[in-house]
Amino acid sequence: MNRVIYMDNNATTKVDDAVIEEMMPYLGELYGNPSSMHSFGGQVAKKVQQSRQRIADLLGCDPDEIIFTSCGTESDNAAIRGTLATYPRRRKVITSRVEHPAVLSPCRELEHHGYQVYELSVDKEGNLNLDELAEVIDDNTALVTIMYANNETGVIFPVEEIGAICRARGVPFHTDAVQAVGKIPLTLRRSNIDMLSLSGHKLHAPKGIGVLYVRRGTRLAPFLLGGHQEAGRRGGTENVAGIAALGKACQLAADSMDDENTRVRSLRDRLEEKILAVCPDSMVNGDRENRLPNTLNVSFEFIEGESILMMLNQYGICASSGSACTSGSLEPSHVMRAMGVPFTAAHGSVRFSLSRFNTEEEVDFVAQKIGPIIHRLRELSPFVKTA
Ligand code: PLP
Repeated sequence: MNRVIYMDNNATTKVDDAVIEEMMPYLGELYGNPSSMHSFGGQVAKKVQQSRQRIADLLGCDPDEIIFTSCGTESDNAAIRGTLATYPRRRKVITSRVEHPAVLSPCRELEHHGYQVYELSVDKEGNLNLDELAEVIDDNTALVTIMYANNETGVIFPVEEIGAICRARGVPFHTDAVQAVGKIPLTLRRSNIDMLSLSGHKLHAPKGIGVLYVRRGTRLAPFLLGGHQEAGRRGGTENVAGIAALGKACQLAADSMDDENTRVRSLRDRLEEKILAVCPDSMVNGDRENRLPNTLNVSFEFIEGESILMMLNQYGICASSGSACTSGSLEPSHVMRAMGVPFTAAHGSVRFSLSRFNTEEEVDFVAQKIGPIIHRLRELSPFVKTA
């Protein structure tokens, strides 16, 4: 395959070489079960313990507040269902219209079981209105679940203020931080967040490992019933290699946090500036100030995101579009619709998401290719007004 320029890091990330090295022994000679009584299993248990500590260090929490799961989706489902099970008389859940399906789907499913699910709206920049939350939260609310940062636009939500509103009303607060962890600093010990989801494959660990942070004292019923792993909070023999990998990835993320917020941010800004300069009728989606440092979502009016992606793909450039192909028709993403992005722009939205592995040369290559691609597609577009 030709050279790949990977700018789709909000979809998944390259596993860091140091992470692969860390996990390999646990796929090979160190295959013991960490729950075993013998010392062969015991050395594996030690690795699980070390990883738990490394993850806790990145999150600014205690190791016993970490529950290992299989992915971000499981963490989200476990937080939602596990909380509702402990508040059987409360029948309302509050979330937002721009959540990932890992939160939206389980919430919407609850409506079939008699729950009232309230989805907070966002403005055209993708920001929430906290007055709306204050108005709808009540004694019947079992859970508020709102993401830390949006996967399509990178917009960061005011989770501390949200948590403060929840705490004042005695309502547990969960946040899906799958896109935030490793990109922006967190200190859960001094925060109003009760539960937080993360996913290994978004921060240079492999797929198949996630975490649900649960603040000590938070009520949560186990989602997977089985053995007594994870202090009885999640049954199932641990994915030790994945856990070792995630521990290392978190350590590396802590070390590269400054780089993410300076070099990666400036690469993203450089890409944004160049794209806007060479592509007329293009605009950035989402609040440009209040955004993850790696994410750029741009709309190119009058053309479809999928066509742009296909043309970028010919140069080995990997990005993604917000559109989902449903029942043969290309629907703009629910995030773009919630933000009220006009139809002609929402269809042409493309997300570039960078990582510490991207270079200035790659950014300049993408910026050089995109102008002619957009120009060519507009020539072919039936939506472009001709003089
Ligand atoms: N939540 C957000 C915000 C995401 O971006 C994703 C994945 O794209 C998920 C949850 C799901 O994570 P996983 O793929 O680990 O299940």
